[in-house]
Amino acid sequence: MDFENRMVDPAYNPEDAAVENPLRPRHLSDYIGQEKVKENLAVFIEAARQRKESLDHVLLYGPPGLGKTTLAGIIANELGVSLRVTSGPAIEKPGDLAALLTNLNPGDVLFIDEVHRLSRSVEEILYPAMEDFALDIITGKGQMAASYHLPLPKFTLVGATTRAGQLTAPLRDRFGVVLRLEMYSPEELSQIVTRSAKILGIDIAADGALEIARRSRGTPRIANRLLKRVRDFAQVISNGIIDQNSAGIALDRLEIDELGLDSGDRRMMRAMIDYYNGGPVGLDTLAAAIGEEAVTIEDVIEPYLMQIGFLSRTPRGRCVTPAAYHHLGLKPPGEVSNGQQSLFHEG
Ligand code: ADP
Repeated sequence: MDFENRMVDPAYNPEDAAVENPLRPRHLSDYIGQEKVKENLAVFIEAARQRKESLDHVLLYGPPGLGKTTLAGIIANELGVSLRVTSGPAIEKPGDLAALLTNLNPGDVLFIDEVHRLSRSVEEILYPAMEDFALDIITGKGQMAASYHLPLPKFTLVGATTRAGQLTAPLRDRFGVVLRLEMYSPEELSQIVTRSAKILGIDIAADGALEIARRSRGTPRIANRLLKRVRDFAQVISNGIIDQNSAGIALDRLEIDELGLDSGDRRMMRAMIDYYNGGPVGLDTLAAAIGEEAVTIEDVIEPYLMQIGFLSRTPRGRCVTPAAYHHLGLKPPGEVSNGQQSLFHEG
């Protein structure tokens, strides 16, 4: 099954870069939604600013495309310090991390995306760096061994992960602030689309923004990407104006349905229904059946399907819910055929 280059893939794609950078909010006040997260951060940032101290280390977790990198940038910007961006898999050796850390200026923000993918040896360098702002380095072996204790500037680590549960306990414990990002409501996404359209000079009506928002799987990255694609259609079919009609036509042509599901989602649910009677199916079995990696299913495909109640997770595996059967135009097993519905159908 082809999940590559999906229009509704929330994972970062280099094509997004050109459009994402100007669209990234730079201040907390431009950052739409996530009210709880914003309220907390505003207090911590203000307190750090008043005490002229570095902010406590922050762990952000939640599915891709919800605004973790953007928040790290905002934190640095609001504190008036520089942001350095890297990721767990990019830091191969302890020396790579040591080089990054020694080049920070006091107060700087170091953003590590996919922080759950740091190697053990790199993590061990990170512990004293986070806790005591120091590097403990051992060189040589046996009698030639020497250990160095190098002080570091005080910095703030902002770690991002799609799954907080995959972090080792010692790493997790060293984050003073742990914030979970939630999927956005269509109304919030609609504000994001409207804001992005304004920045990009795109003519959009409120109902057009809401139509894009509704099909963006709760994810700003997808909303911005769809806006770009819909603009192309609108240029050809409605004088460049995006309204509900032109947005609807464009998104239908892109095979993104009214809930934001694409052919990939539908095929995964169909596979579960056709081969496994709707489940329960184990993650690895499902991954093999549809030719997709288990982590992609867990991080990218499932969160939204669970959010809208189309998929449930049980100890024995994933199940397709009756609501999903109905969405696919199918009858859930157990539903009585004479028009009456079983207990499981929510109406
Ligand atoms: P993540 O790091 O969680 O994968 P990003 O921070 O890269 O996500 O966000 C993806 C895009 O979505 C950014 O380019 C940004 O423009 C937009 N975005 C994310 N969150 C918000 C928000 N709360 N308000 C406005 N735009 C947002």
